[in-house]
Amino acid sequence: MNVLVINCGSSSLKFQLINSESEEVLAKGLCERIGIDGSLTYQPAGGEKVKTAKDMPTHTEAIQFVIDALTDEATGVVKSLDEIGAVGHRLVHGGEKFASSVIITEEVKKAVEECNDLAPLHNPANLIGVNACEKLMPNTPMVAVFDTAFHQTMPEKAYMYGLPYAYYEKYKVRRYGFHGTSHSYVSKRAAEILGKPYDATKTIVCHLGNGASVCAVLNGKSVDTSMGLTPLEGLVMGTRSGDIDPAILEFIAKKEDLDIEGLMKVLNKESGVYGLSNGLSSDFRDLCAAEEDGNQQAKVALEVFAYRVAKYVGSYVAAMNGVDNIVFTAGIGENDGAIRAEVCKYLQFLGIEINKEANAARGEEVIISTPDSKVNVLVIPTNEELAIARETVALVK
Ligand code: AMP
Repeated sequence: MNVLVINCGSSSLKFQLINSESEEVLAKGLCERIGIDGSLTYQPAGGEKVKTAKDMPTHTEAIQFVIDALTDEATGVVKSLDEIGAVGHRLVHGGEKFASSVIITEEVKKAVEECNDLAPLHNPANLIGVNACEKLMPNTPMVAVFDTAFHQTMPEKAYMYGLPYAYYEKYKVRRYGFHGTSHSYVSKRAAEILGKPYDATKTIVCHLGNGASVCAVLNGKSVDTSMGLTPLEGLVMGTRSGDIDPAILEFIAKKEDLDIEGLMKVLNKESGVYGLSNGLSSDFRDLCAAEEDGNQQAKVALEVFAYRVAKYVGSYVAAMNGVDNIVFTAGIGENDGAIRAEVCKYLQFLGIEINKEANAARGEEVIISTPDSKVNVLVIPTNEELAIARETVALVK
């Protein structure tokens, strides 16, 4: 079956068409600046990537352009819509309502809408994508795959905040966690690569991209993760602050005359390694180059980042009373050997030994620990689209 995987943002839409038997990506692309001055980037397998300006006032036109491209006589990869068996949608927040993926129905859409409060930037945009697809492909089954679902196995002690209990009862203020599809895919893959049973392993996944989180996976279940009610908690990220003393908010609001919106903008868009490097960059390639040129601020940003990752990994060793595998994934985790080495240096007390040559690898599945290492350390490129396609097929078959 061919599965169309859709990841819809407020003004963008990423897609992949995946053959679920061969797990091959038949075509992929991206619609950008929907409602502004739209464009479609489309690339069939083995073909050229082409970007074309398109008039797309809404997501419905964007999806129509995607369908047109996929079925185009010259560059398309299927003859008609009939060859697309299902659509898998990435949805960001499923609250406490969704502990697994589901076939999308009117009730599901209503339940997702009820979680909009928890992810006001993402959920409404995700739903727009669902509605647009339903309009153009009314007979194709659709599946919702939630970023939060994998973490619904967290115990209460891990998801409750030290806040008045009424906030949980009234507003469901608790920790949810994100990147669940990635943490699940990567931790499972580690067990496969090592030939160990997934349901009897302790794995810590470091998903280090522009957004970053760490997850403790005990016997195949998420028991703790660094992101919380929103994706702002936890690690120092590209532009997000991660954990800070909450009293800083009042202090800075008074000093800089900022309201809540202004503060949230600072924490989400102007902090992290970008803020730490004095606005130099949120991209680790730029920061590493600057560090090599002697830029002190870039050096500090990279040190703070690695130190925070190591502290989270250490705390999850305690949470699981041990660890068998540590996995690095996402843009930084897959490509930046220096950061991986730096994080592992803090963890030498666990008996971790890194093979320097293996750690030079980029973007491929590789065990970077030595055979003598007490903990397996791996790099595994994440593949959220494939994971979504698999979940989709499992539900519609
Ligand atoms: P992601 O959000 O997973 O797409 O990761 C994006 C981030 O990965 C970028 O902002 C960079 O910081 C980082 N990244 C990508 N490629 C490299 C590389 N070759 N070396 C270091 N960092 C990289």
